[in-house]
Amino acid sequence: MTTTTSEFRQRAALAIEDERLQSALDTATENFRQARDQAFAELPDAEALRDHFKSLRQATLGQLAQHLETFETRAREAGAQVHWARDGAEACATIVQIARRHQVKLAVKGKSMATEEIHLNQALEEAGVEAVETDMGDWLVQLARETPSHIIAPAIHKTRQQAAELLSREAGQPLPADDIPALTAAARALMRQRFLNAGMGISGGNIAVAESGSLVLVTNEGNGRMATSVPPLHVALIGIEKVAPTWDEAAVWLALLGRSAAGQPLSVYTSVLTGPARAADADGPRELHIVLLDNGRSRLLGTKYEEVLQCIRCGACLNVCPVYREAGGHAYGSPYCGPIGAVITPLLFGLEEYEALPHASSLCGACRDVCPVRIDLPRMLIELRADEVEKRVLPWRQRKLEEAAAFVLKNDKLMGFLSAALRRVQGPFVRAGGLKSGGDRQLPGLAPRSFRQLWAAGALEEKK
Ligand code: SF4
Repeated sequence: MTTTTSEFRQRAALAIEDERLQSALDTATENFRQARDQAFAELPDAEALRDHFKSLRQATLGQLAQHLETFETRAREAGAQVHWARDGAEACATIVQIARRHQVKLAVKGKSMATEEIHLNQALEEAGVEAVETDMGDWLVQLARETPSHIIAPAIHKTRQQAAELLSREAGQPLPADDIPALTAAARALMRQRFLNAGMGISGGNIAVAESGSLVLVTNEGNGRMATSVPPLHVALIGIEKVAPTWDEAAVWLALLGRSAAGQPLSVYTSVLTGPARAADADGPRELHIVLLDNGRSRLLGTKYEEVLQCIRCGACLNVCPVYREAGGHAYGSPYCGPIGAVITPLLFGLEEYEALPHASSLCGACRDVCPVRIDLPRMLIELRADEVEKRVLPWRQRKLEEAAAFVLKNDKLMGFLSAALRRVQGPFVRAGGLKSGGDRQLPGLAPRSFRQLWAAGALEEKK
């Protein structure tokens, strides 16, 4: 997929015209935002904890190779099989191979952005394995043949009515949209059979704890636990940046993740997988595979973009972003949307392919303010824009326009001359106090006297 400027504009325009989507986005993002603010207000020393977490993440990424090796050693000692995947193709091939070896026909999946990133469902389907999403939001999106539109709430764009229609089709009988317990009970019954029939469970992982070789999974639905414990075989895919050297660091991570994501002191389920089931265990997978995914991450280490690897995928930056809140997740054309998506998508999948995304931001800074790791996304958006200019990624017309603007803005006299000229000719174009700039937009006309003229005349001083 790509996201050029015109593609982003087209998708965003469709989203903005969709009243149902706008209402769903407004409600969900506002609820998340308020819950997050409240949770942080109640957390003693929240700001100090965020600073502490940032320094921990910085230090961990500084020694990433060492922590990954420790994780691999401990995970193997616990009985897990660890695989390294340089890119998505390698990760898919590894997982397909495991499925084939065990003659898996049905796999149940817990929520995982990394599997979205590598298009794992498609690869499994091509290999004859049906992969069923078990997170409610992800399942609805799969039934609708769409892609997730929010990092933690994949079906944020779906209304209750649409959810009921999709589930009714799957159940083969009409389900009431206004009876949420009935809807979830029907979904649970449909899903239960799949858990029991599946030959393989697949999940992501929120944290890889190096000191014990454990994977931590954070979910709000019981599906994560079912997917990791019912099938006899489990495969977890996790990005290499998700390592915490110690449980102490993981504890700070967890304290901030639930609060940032949905205003919860802790998510409803925090599951820990350390190796496969022991002989005496009543349940759990008999075989556990962990696939460590690079896919462009190690390329960012030691660069001006390393900071983006500190992200814990809480989704808080999406909920405060004025662009995401209007355009919705699908406009980005990537599994990662919103401010974090606008930065990480071009870095992982190519600046040329996603040239629009560094511009999908007002640079208001709300994402940085809300981020539990204080990731400076606006700085990286500006860096990406500069890279686009340097690599001549932008279309010729846009590049020339920006070069002309830079030339004028750097030239004091030319700037004064042009703004004076514009002031003289703008009259016929100004209507009802504004300049029409296409569509519904109206730009204010230039003020009768410029700031410099007012300054030179001492008018600003008089106003004080
Ligand atoms: S950038 Fe920060 S706020 Fe956004 S998803 Fe990542 S950790 Fe959360």
